[in-house]
Amino acid sequence: MGSNRGRILDIDLAKRSSKTTHIKDDLLRKFVGGSGLAARLFLDRVPPNADPLSGKNILFLMAGPLSGTRFPTSSRLVAAFKSPLTGIWGQGSCGGDSAAQLKAAGYDGVAISGSSKKPVYILVEDDRVEIKDASDIWGKDTYETTQILKKRHGAKADILEIGPAGENLVKFASIMNGEWGSISRCGGGAVMGSKKLKALVLRGTGKVEPALPEEFEKVRKAVLEKIKQSVVTQALTAAGTAMGVEVNAITGVLPVKNYTVGDGSYLAPKLSGNTISAQYLTRPHACFTCPIACKRTVKVAEGPYRVGEGPGPQYETVCAFGSLMLIDHLAAVIRLGEMANRYGMDTISCGATIAFAMECFEKGLITTRDLRGDHLRWGNPEDVLAIMAKIAYRQGFGDILAEGSRSAARRIGNGAERFTVEVKGLEFALYDVRGSHGHGLGFVMSNRGACHVASEIGKIESSWTVWPEIGVTGGYDPKADAGKGELNVICENVAMLSNATTMCQFALMSMAITELAEALKAATGFDYTLDEIMQCGARIWMLQRGLNNLMGITSADDRMPERILTPHTEGGAAGSVPDIKLMLKDYYRYRGLRPDGRPSQARLRSLGLSPLAAKLQSCNLAAGVQTPPGIQCDPYPDRVPPQKPVKKSENHKKRPAPY
Ligand code: SF4
Repeated sequence: MGSNRGRILDIDLAKRSSKTTHIKDDLLRKFVGGSGLAARLFLDRVPPNADPLSGKNILFLMAGPLSGTRFPTSSRLVAAFKSPLTGIWGQGSCGGDSAAQLKAAGYDGVAISGSSKKPVYILVEDDRVEIKDASDIWGKDTYETTQILKKRHGAKADILEIGPAGENLVKFASIMNGEWGSISRCGGGAVMGSKKLKALVLRGTGKVEPALPEEFEKVRKAVLEKIKQSVVTQALTAAGTAMGVEVNAITGVLPVKNYTVGDGSYLAPKLSGNTISAQYLTRPHACFTCPIACKRTVKVAEGPYRVGEGPGPQYETVCAFGSLMLIDHLAAVIRLGEMANRYGMDTISCGATIAFAMECFEKGLITTRDLRGDHLRWGNPEDVLAIMAKIAYRQGFGDILAEGSRSAARRIGNGAERFTVEVKGLEFALYDVRGSHGHGLGFVMSNRGACHVASEIGKIESSWTVWPEIGVTGGYDPKADAGKGELNVICENVAMLSNATTMCQFALMSMAITELAEALKAATGFDYTLDEIMQCGARIWMLQRGLNNLMGITSADDRMPERILTPHTEGGAAGSVPDIKLMLKDYYRYRGLRPDGRPSQARLRSLGLSPLAAKLQSCNLAAGVQTPPGIQCDPYPDRVPPQKPVKKSENHKKRPAPY
């Protein structure tokens, strides 16, 4: 069998039942694992018109073929679901130990369907699966929840939990992994909240053995050595991912004041990874089997924003609560990051939505009356702390912002949409892509919306690595457009592999894709080649695109926000905007998409996606199809689910925001 378990743990919260489903080798080989296997199971199990906050939505928590082995950085756990924020394919991932624990318990993934009437948590200890009462932890923040469950189930237990934001169905609520990790994007925390699922506790004692131990050990050692020697590793260990703050300020990629300012060089030294290390770092922190240790342990010992020793902010959080809002007080940024984690909210979408609201406030579209006496001033951490609590508990104007920036802009009106920076309803990851055009194309074509891990092209444009064996030879001008379509297709296919094998993308910067093929072959026993795994990447991307087509996505959704198409007059990217039309034309041709943004039946069949082709055909969404729609495919023509009035739980009424 090798490193794959060939088993998915199916849990139905409505029926309070669980069972094991066996997955055939053919499916594992073609869809690899992680987000690839999740997408294939999603196709069979989740109706395209499912309400994301209903029991019909399924939360997939998936490990990959390298999880649980000693392969470096094979730590990530993927969550996949229909996103309540965007109404389309949603996914996120975290590092830590959870993927390894899941594999050690004997599963490649967990699929959670149905909704419980009362708060529950799930305990998985090897073959023992229990659905337990969570009424005593419902309402607790994520740190408190972690501590209680670790005390109850042992320090080695791995916890995936939600905070008040998930309970209150904030559309960008995250699933936290203890205190250290976060499955942030697309609102997986709200999906858990809608199922009344407070947490999962994972413990496994089994061993994950590669199919070909000697070959596996050989490639593992070679890759480990390369990662240790890499300059990227040295930089990440020393300064964490926030090392990117200073570099991006030089190239014009650092987002400043809701993407309205092009030169963030005056902010960068105050917020950089080096400054975090110099002032607040107590030690680096690493995920399972990771020699890089990009995570930060920090402590703010004094001042108004004291934070006890614990997880520090990564690049995205520093930008979201720093440069994007003009906050240059690093301790305040650390505190804001901690609070977002305690509430259980995606720091990217939370920060971006608040920065959008700050611009609305500055321009008079939101007033202090709307905010019931509060303010939303640029550079003011107290204003952000106040609105963040109101978002988490859906109080006052926080209830509107809790829907995300696209929905909030529609509610605010008066042209507020011009201040949103999102694709397909997902707020931009923190890169001003006027300084990195291919990266911008990656955001536009990402299947979950504007995302920095759906394509490796941003790192390739920044010259972090080359992969000549797959045609990525380097020397790309980040502000050029020609050739970026083809490059992005390749870089997306690699990212699909990273999310399917559940390897950290930082390790891929130090190794060859050929080595990834060798590792997968030795781990699984499938005689994978480089060509075959790249085909797997292409298949997974197209499957997720097809799922999105079933949920209503067309070429009209592949668009760059208006703001990004307006050039800056200052900074490293002054005068530069992506030529998105040119890049999309190139991209569509290489990807094999028709002008309407859907794949042809022939393309789907060549990728081994006949079941998807049949579903698209039954929805009349494929080329040359005469069949009338067999199922309702797109209940939300604008992809944003209708806003339901939020039912405030008894618990909610009793508990005021504690922060
Ligand atoms: S590089 Fe960072 S995110 Fe990646 S596995 Fe290592 S510690 Fe985790």
